[in-house]
Amino acid sequence: MAYVITQGCCNDGSCVPVCPVQCIRPRPGDPDFTHTEQLYIDPAACIDCGACMDECPVEAIHPDWELPENLSEYAEINSDYFETHPIAGASVPSYTRRVLAEGHDSLRVAVVGSGPAGCYATGLLSEIPGVTVSVLDRLPTPFGLIRAGVAPDHVHTKSISERFSRFLDRANVDCFFNVEVGKDVSLQELLDSHHAVIWAGGVGADRKLGRPGEDLDGVYSARDFVAWYNGHPDFADRAFDISGERAVIVGNGNVALDVARTLLLPRDVLARTDMSDRAIDALARSGVREVVVVARRGPEHAAYSLGELLALSNSGDISLAAEASEVAAAPDHGRRHDILLRAAQKADADDPAERVVRLRFGLEPVSIEGSERVRSITFRRSDGRLETIETSAVFRAIGYRGLEVEGLPFDPLTATIPHNAGRVVEPRSDEEIPGVFCSGWIKRGPRGVIGTNKVDAMETVDSILQDLAADRLTPPKNEQQPLVDLLAARGVDVVDKAAWKRIDAAEKERGRTQGRPRQKFLNFGELIDAARGDK
Ligand code: NAP
Repeated sequence: MAYVITQGCCNDGSCVPVCPVQCIRPRPGDPDFTHTEQLYIDPAACIDCGACMDECPVEAIHPDWELPENLSEYAEINSDYFETHPIAGASVPSYTRRVLAEGHDSLRVAVVGSGPAGCYATGLLSEIPGVTVSVLDRLPTPFGLIRAGVAPDHVHTKSISERFSRFLDRANVDCFFNVEVGKDVSLQELLDSHHAVIWAGGVGADRKLGRPGEDLDGVYSARDFVAWYNGHPDFADRAFDISGERAVIVGNGNVALDVARTLLLPRDVLARTDMSDRAIDALARSGVREVVVVARRGPEHAAYSLGELLALSNSGDISLAAEASEVAAAPDHGRRHDILLRAAQKADADDPAERVVRLRFGLEPVSIEGSERVRSITFRRSDGRLETIETSAVFRAIGYRGLEVEGLPFDPLTATIPHNAGRVVEPRSDEEIPGVFCSGWIKRGPRGVIGTNKVDAMETVDSILQDLAADRLTPPKNEQQPLVDLLAARGVDVVDKAAWKRIDAAEKERGRTQGRPRQKFLNFGELIDAARGDK
């Protein structure tokens, strides 16, 4: 009998220190920790205590005797990991209790961005005695991509916002939402009232294909589509023409699979989630029955994770299909390969009534055709021949891209902020900018899962603590109050902690009556009204 880590593991490692027999791998510091798709429990060592299950922030851990049927393969997935990664000796991971260095009794940090990167940094900092944190966000609501990126049907993953809420609730954390740094307050003004600023603002764009026809109507960014169906207020008025029967997604990362699934899920499934009402209605009217997910390389290089592929292959609402010749051409790459082989067999017996995600491989995008609207997309196959797929909607899901932040250095090649262990540096001189730090996707690029941001935040927080100890941080000129006063004098409608709680309560109440986790407000006006208690 053992516990099993399953789909949706966020990799933040919360379960690792609570395990009394240290049987969860990989752990922070292990070579594969930063790129593992999930963590695993060694069934041979697990003592069934359940401590990990209680600690998991996304409800991804189950006892093997109660594994839901759709997750049954995970018992083997966990044990398989230890065949290839045997535990050498009974080492105990070291967990540092962070404190301020001697001679320092206070540290004030501003965290810009309240997504996973900002929330983990806030959580780590606010548990240190003597530290106060100001969290700023451009939106009236916190949690970044947890709210506006994670697919609405991934309810357990979204529940990590409850843990993040507890960080924000701490008495030494102040929230300044609906405040745009660079417009409502400058970086320098934040430095004037804090020892340090962590830029954790995420990435603001996505990669372009750079192929003819990319600007035709009907060619969409998956990033925009995800933000729209998740009710991001910047995207409330966007419209996506999904009336045609077939959509094509370029790229096969987890964002591509999220979009493919969302395009095909039936209305009753979507209506149980916190998806934007407008999106639920539009998707319910959609004509899409087939989504073709196209990768330029073979299946062995696919960017999706095993968990997401497995979930799709086990879906009762959507069938998964693949081309036998493309799968057969790939080397055996284990469980993923087996899933594709099954999908290829099933494709032979395609039922046209079914909603299908069709995975294609080895097709390099060449051009998108149409006069005003997209009509088709053409790819070059690995044998050099061209293949054209008719479609009225193309989604580009080839990765996100960071945007330059005014006043901060930027590396255009990686589209990230250059840094040394989280300390922002001038790229030419490699000189550190005192007091300015970064974390999250804008620091390391748009890779990894939610928990990857925790490791990232640890590095940045440790750098701040080291700089404080070495007297490299300038003590704040101003008390906190001037920031509050400054924003008030500028007429900024700051959504503080209490105001965010009012939005949260109002959204949950609206959702409760419909059996949904929440019903989101979709534009700034509604959000601010709710923050004032007018909803
Ligand atoms: P991603 O994982 O980097 O995948 C990008 C995909 O686009 C790859 O298939 C890549 O193929 C392809 N691509 C890149 N440039 C291309 C081009 N010019 N032409 C054709 N194809 C191209 O990006 P993502 O899906 O946006 O995900 C971003 C991060 O968020 C990932 O770490 C992902 O795991 C994470 N995420 C996780 C979840 C989840 O855990 N459920 C959900 C959403 C996002 P090549 O490999 O050939 O370059």
